[in-house]
Amino acid sequence: MPDVDDTAAVNAGVTLVLRSTRVVTPQGTRPAAVAVAGGTIASVDPHDTAPPPGARVEDLGDDVLLPGLVDTHVHVNDPGRSAWEGFWTATRAAAAGGITTLLDMPLNSLPPTTTADHLRTKQAVARSKAHVDTGFWGGAIPGNLKDLRPLHDAGVFGFKCFLSPSGVEEFPALDQEHLARAMAEIAGFGGLLIVHAEDPHHLDAAPRRPGPRYADFLASRPRDAENTAIESLIGHAERLGARVHILHLSSSDALPLIAGARRRGVAVTVESCPHFLTLTAEEIPDGATEFKCCPPIRESANQDLLWQGLADGTIDCIVSDHSPCTTDLKTPDFASAWGGISSLQLGLPAVWTEARRRGHTLDDVARWMSAGPAALAGLDRKGAVEAGRDADFAVLAPDETFTVDPARLHHRNQVTAYAGRTLHGVVRSTWLRGRRIATGGEVAGPAGRLLERNN
Ligand SMILES: [Zn+2]
Repeated sequence: MPDVDDTAAVNAGVTLVLRSTRVVTPQGTRPAAVAVAGGTIASVDPHDTAPPPGARVEDLGDDVLLPGLVDTHVHVNDPGRSAWEGFWTATRAAAAGGITTLLDMPLNSLPPTTTADHLRTKQAVARSKAHVDTGFWGGAIPGNLKDLRPLHDAGVFGFKCFLSPSGVEEFPALDQEHLARAMAEIAGFGGLLIVHAEDPHHLDAAPRRPGPRYADFLASRPRDAENTAIESLIGHAERLGARVHILHLSSSDALPLIAGARRRGVAVTVESCPHFLTLTAEEIPDGATEFKCCPPIRESANQDLLWQGLADGTIDCIVSDHSPCTTDLKTPDFASAWGGISSLQLGLPAVWTEARRRGHTLDDVARWMSAGPAALAGLDRKGAVEAGRDADFAVLAPDETFTVDPARLHHRNQVTAYAGRTLHGVVRSTWLRGRRIATGGEVAGPAGRLLERNN
């Protein structure tokens, strides 16, 4: 075979070089020049490497080059409840916030993603509107056992279920018997079950006092509901050899259960969310239902333990659980107001603000908000700045601050629990497969692709 000059071969296709004194790679943050060819990272070279002839160079100075964020928990609600959010607005908010990949939850849209046909309906709606790469979770509800395999074959990343009422009647919860059956079916084809883990019996038994007081709402969603549900999920997963992922963990009490299960070899992973990690029950004003979500935001001592769970690796990822609604549904009564927090565009600065205060680095943030969720979903082209991955980046000015003005958010409804907060970390630009898709909060036209699970 003739000798091949590898450097020249790689350089041949390079059209773009991004240079920064702070590039966040899986091996740490360092000065580097990232060469991009055909939308893929071709190489990560020393900072002073001469660019190949013809390549455009973007010198980012000291701004940080992060891997594009992967948000695996977004309720886009489109079609059907697109007044709440939609693929156009959600993916623009994502792009402005440094997110380059999102996965849509199977409920709150009409239809819900519970059959392969419904998936195709959703894909058709999303196709022309996606500003970032977009994929779909399927749903497991009573009666759709036969639809799970076809949904898996059609490319969903896994299946979401509830154990307690979801908030919408077209997406009912699974009881323990249906749960075991769905988990066995999904394990049979190597799929992933992702679970809203609150036990319905503990919720029923909790004190229920409607009204504007946050303390009453918090008492109605006790930690025990989460702890019990997680314990039973781990039991099922262990018995069936199934993979299970716990969504939006709020109760830190469950961390030892999860860590213990992992030590026994149970395939259980867990996420938490920006609101659980940056907001506390103590500071929520009565009537402020923009802070309502289920499970709820708990006390600051609980939050400290969640951060410990991130630090010791028990919590795998941080994702938004962006679940918006129209403003009229955020009535001042915590019992009846829609539960869901809008944060798609703000997750990175919100988490970074708290992470830096607690002594964490942007390497940690990239692990929790990009590599972790990419690994959960099996997105092996996403989640890291390294050769062979998609050239997806978020460029961050980590020491700059801004005050959250809801009017500047691209979310369809400008309701957010973060209004008026001063956050660290300004997203300068976002890049998707080597293309700049957002600059200073302004978003370019839709360039996202629809993603399917890798086989
Ligand atoms: Zn959710």
